[in-house]
Amino acid sequence: MSGISKILIANRGEIALRVLRACKELGIATVAVHSTADANAMHVRLADESVCIGPPPSRDSYLNIHQIVAACEITGADAVHPGYGFLSENAKFADILDAHGITFIGPTAEHIRLMGDKITAKKTAVELGIPVVPGSDGEVLPENALEIARQIGFPVLIKATAGGGGRGMKVAKTEAELEEAVSTARSEALAAFGNDAVYMEKYLGKPRHIEVQVVGDGFGNAIHLGERDCSLQRRHQKVWEEANSPALNVEQRMKIGQICADAMKKMKYRGAGTIEFLYENGEFYFIEMNTRLQVEHPITEAITGIDLVHEQIRVASGAGLSVSQDEIVFSGHAIECRINAEDPRTFVPSPGTITHFHAPGGLGVRVDSGAYAGYKIPPYYDSLIGKLIVHGRTRVECMMRLRRVLDEFVVDGIKTTLPLFQDLVSNQDIANGDYDIHWLEKYLAETSA
Ligand code: ADP
Repeated sequence: MSGISKILIANRGEIALRVLRACKELGIATVAVHSTADANAMHVRLADESVCIGPPPSRDSYLNIHQIVAACEITGADAVHPGYGFLSENAKFADILDAHGITFIGPTAEHIRLMGDKITAKKTAVELGIPVVPGSDGEVLPENALEIARQIGFPVLIKATAGGGGRGMKVAKTEAELEEAVSTARSEALAAFGNDAVYMEKYLGKPRHIEVQVVGDGFGNAIHLGERDCSLQRRHQKVWEEANSPALNVEQRMKIGQICADAMKKMKYRGAGTIEFLYENGEFYFIEMNTRLQVEHPITEAITGIDLVHEQIRVASGAGLSVSQDEIVFSGHAIECRINAEDPRTFVPSPGTITHFHAPGGLGVRVDSGAYAGYKIPPYYDSLIGKLIVHGRTRVECMMRLRRVLDEFVVDGIKTTLPLFQDLVSNQDIANGDYDIHWLEKYLAETSA
């Protein structure tokens, strides 16, 4: 591919492996980076070259920009793929790579900044014609909170401008709860993000979380690849995702998809991105845009046949998109289960050594994981050890297949979330596609001993 011959993958775990696979297919050389805790990791073993960038804590290794730039210089990597998390939405990192003549496989630093601040992201969304949740125009302060909340109408949600991972978010159901909600959200935001700015939104009672996948070439062409329904969440963390959403029909899908693609064209957005919405009573409400690859991107790949990492690399190298909107065919249904090294009920992390590992196979089955028998899960990072993605011609077939595949999957030696998925796949509400963003927490509360 023009311009890119060696990619340094600034990440670990299943996503490092995922990116590495795409590079191999494109004939691009790979450099893995790793902390001392990950010296034996699969992404390190399979890469053409590897560089140790520091001790286990992320801030000293996977978040250490100097070490990563030095690793590029040493190995002659001409591009960096950041994966998700870590430095993937760090505008300063994109700027520094640019200053070193290294291609950042992602959007411009300017677009990362624009979408990284939630107030400017929302303003931009409005300008681009994307529907948003009714809320404050800008920052909310203790002195103007009541007036704004009365205009919006209770219940309201206070959210951190710099937010992420659901932190710094507080609901105020009534006027009496408002002062407390604003001050707690502000102090949580300051502790988590070093920035106490908060804003306010109408709190939606029973929405679904539906997000649209987009890819732009940076020159004003952009496509959408349909939506993903990620309503099954615990503490705002996605657990089970599906494409398409059981709640949308073809017309709704193409309408919201086109709104998003048009917005990306106007912005001249470059790279893969996800526009997240809450969906309630037939209306979409923008909540944020992620300017990177998402964990759940494989379900979109399953129903479109398009390799999103190939597209990311293509557009970063200036080669443009490989497909136009009218060439995209949506086929069947896909579900992803996030396999975490956690207790399936309490979600307490369960690091340790995997003694036995058998990944399922067969038609329509994809397992993205760096785990293997004998692999020791380090305690320093998030607990995602793999993703199971199942595709079928229909949602019913996909669920039948998922049930079979979950029975086949063996991970011994540690606790995993696999038993939770075995319960979910047999649940009637899930079979009906009848759930909102609160469903899973309610289910967990009702079924725990
Ligand atoms: P973060 O960046 O912290 O993840 P988001 O804005 O993406 O924050 O919101 C995370 C989750 O919080 C959503 O998926 C949804 O479950 C809930 N949420 C966010 N905004 C609202 C709202 N206005 N009403 C109800 N729930 C919301």
